[in-house]
Amino acid sequence: MNPSHFLSENVKMIKPSGIRRFFDLASQMENVISLGVGEPDFVTPWNYREASILSLEEGFTAYSPNAGLLELRQEISAYMEQRFSVHYSSENEIIVTVGASEALDIALRATLNPGEEIIVVEPCFVSYVPIVELAGGKAVTVRALPEYDFKIQPEQIEEVITEKTKGIIICSPNNPTGTVLNKQELEGIASVALKHNLLVFSDEIYAELSYDEPYTSIASLPKMRDRTIVMNGFSKAFAMTGWRLGFVCGPNEILQAMLKIHQYAIMCAPTMSQFAAIEALKNGHTEMKKMIRSYHSRRNYMVEELNEIGLPCHVPGGAFYVFPNITSTGLSSEEFAEKLLIEQQVAVVPGSVFGASGEGYIRCSYATSIDQLQEAITRIKNFLK
Ligand code: PMP
Repeated sequence: MNPSHFLSENVKMIKPSGIRRFFDLASQMENVISLGVGEPDFVTPWNYREASILSLEEGFTAYSPNAGLLELRQEISAYMEQRFSVHYSSENEIIVTVGASEALDIALRATLNPGEEIIVVEPCFVSYVPIVELAGGKAVTVRALPEYDFKIQPEQIEEVITEKTKGIIICSPNNPTGTVLNKQELEGIASVALKHNLLVFSDEIYAELSYDEPYTSIASLPKMRDRTIVMNGFSKAFAMTGWRLGFVCGPNEILQAMLKIHQYAIMCAPTMSQFAAIEALKNGHTEMKKMIRSYHSRRNYMVEELNEIGLPCHVPGGAFYVFPNITSTGLSSEEFAEKLLIEQQVAVVPGSVFGASGEGYIRCSYATSIDQLQEAITRIKNFLK
């Protein structure tokens, strides 16, 4: 008897992430420079770690309330108001989750009926399509085009709307392109959402890493708060990936439905991580600014160098990725990434793993030291020769 007989049709349909294959390959090699991973190179600032250690010393080792510690939800509420000008009640409009990943999962599971469609803008974070499908929905992809700096145009969204469309997932700053949607561009998307009664899933995990202009959350636009679910977290700008802590904000009716799933499936996010997050929100501003300045200068370095060595690259407004075009090499993005890894030991991610529209590009994360970036550029230059 083959154990795979027991698997659900739903899970059999899901392909493993294309990023993993490259990590596995890279982990078997020596002297590899990784521009592959999407996580900060900074260790979590000491005061956040200390706050967590202190909570353990004091014996706070039990479950927290399902939605998260009230003090943390109050801090998140104040943060959302100050930083993004949207009010969410700490009582019933915020859930502390196991990363933005869980936020996305429970948001889709709480809102999708079988066969309903979610518009996913590609190139995009590798989880979106599988998570929509696992929630029983159908992902309908639209391509953000390089000629618009990978900014989706409202007409493109309208073209794919059907009577089954429930909502759209947007991500700004974007993984993998780094593109940031400004207020005016978000207004274009908002007007489509209002006209067609769509729910917006706004992945704002990179919101703080927006270098060139003030960040706008689509939830702050007129009439949008009650049709938007904002997913955010501590992984990126707070350098806390391993703590597995995120949060989700939205209208009470939707958040309470999400809480039902969260309380049965997860119970609560790790309590010790929540104590670190309270400290991060209360006293993390200076540390965060330092990290942002560092990413910003590394972004400028990478864009300049990649353009110089013949891999054209738009200036990504945020996150910590550059997305250069590699079509001049005549290689597919997968061939490019594989050859570069084998010949020069530099790990990048082929654009095709982020959806068909990522073909012709590679994603390079610059969340690594400037020395490593310099060495990576030298090796890529040698590779191109
Ligand atoms: N959204 C995007 C766009 C991401 O890039 C990531 C992490 N790579 C996540 C969500 C998940 O983040 P978390 O660690 O908070 O689960």
